[in-house]
Amino acid sequence: MEFETLAIHAGQEPDPNNGAVMTPIYQTSTFAQDEVGKPRQGYEYSRTKNPTRLALENCLAALEGGAYGLAFSSGMAATDTVLRLVDGGAHVMAGNDVYGGTFRLFDKVLRRYGLSFDFVDTTDPEVVADSLTPQTRLVWLETPTNPMLSITDIQAAAEIIHAHSNHPLLVVDNTFATPYLQNPLQLGADIVVHSTTKYLGGHSDVVGGAVVVKEKDIFDKLAFLQNAVGAVPGPMDCFLILRGIKTLPLRMDRHADNAASLADFLAGHPKVSRVMYPFHRGHPQLSVAKKQMRNGGGMISFIMKDGRDAAVKVAGATKLFTLAESLGGVESLIEVPAAMTHLSTAGSQLAIDPGLIRLSVGIENKNDLLKDLEQALGKA
Ligand SMILES: *Cc1c(COP(=O)(O)O)cnc(C)c1O
Repeated sequence: MEFETLAIHAGQEPDPNNGAVMTPIYQTSTFAQDEVGKPRQGYEYSRTKNPTRLALENCLAALEGGAYGLAFSSGMAATDTVLRLVDGGAHVMAGNDVYGGTFRLFDKVLRRYGLSFDFVDTTDPEVVADSLTPQTRLVWLETPTNPMLSITDIQAAAEIIHAHSNHPLLVVDNTFATPYLQNPLQLGADIVVHSTTKYLGGHSDVVGGAVVVKEKDIFDKLAFLQNAVGAVPGPMDCFLILRGIKTLPLRMDRHADNAASLADFLAGHPKVSRVMYPFHRGHPQLSVAKKQMRNGGGMISFIMKDGRDAAVKVAGATKLFTLAESLGGVESLIEVPAAMTHLSTAGSQLAIDPGLIRLSVGIENKNDLLKDLEQALGKA
């Protein structure tokens, strides 16, 4: 079946007991057992397995073209659980422009447990090849990145990484692209991670995370960790994400259509020095983006010629774009990463240009969005 159909039906069937069309919210922590040690359909305790969560997990697996999905209470919980696949002493290579919270988890938390990290420019396959060490057990890629929107060729990276004698795991954070735009497992990745808080949920009303894999042995290890560590989402949150996913393809097409127009507008504006949008003609990895993504997505970053003060003025002057962190909802958001979402990277090699503004372009009317940006830029 095609993506649009899977988004609505995968993992979900009318309830066999009463025909409920929407997946019920199984708001229960435990399940009655018919005999000692004989749970019905494997359900015994909701940290281990819950029917609403299972519907979401199976839906996510289908959308990514994987075999198994796992849902978590946040994107960071998903990331943390994946990193527990490798033992202390291992080396992890990561992109030098990963999400600020991912950098913080790696640098400030996991280093203390004996993992070592290198943050490198994964957009260059030669750098990827040169950065693998005999201790490398996992490679963490994000593409497009947050907030620079740089693109890594997933297939090229996968070939290099899988040729390495250690067989490090290749993990791709696919939050920005969503499974509608890009399927890293098909391009050679072993594991896909999502913050379902963003486009998958799509309505800025839930925090969640997910992991999708194709191999049974990796799934078994992750399912063990999911239960042993316990960072699982509640059934209501799973329901909200399932519901959001039903309109994902429609929303992503509209996000991308709006964003492409805004990127053109910004590129021609005299107060803007640089625009970053994956499908924009000036993007340094445009051909890779077009090869592995269906459209350019809904995120735009741009740099104000006059730096931080101008960026702060613009972000404070929009009326329709709400000044807020996060992204991927139906409504448009604006933020200044160096002072907000990416504050944790200040002073590090991942520090962001203080004049950079990030837009999460919503699905409102394009002309209203253009007018709002135009008046806000006029105040900088
Ligand atoms: C938001 C985000 C995360 C973290 O997800 P949470 O749900 O906020 O924990 C990870 N990666 C990317 C690319 C993100 O945008």
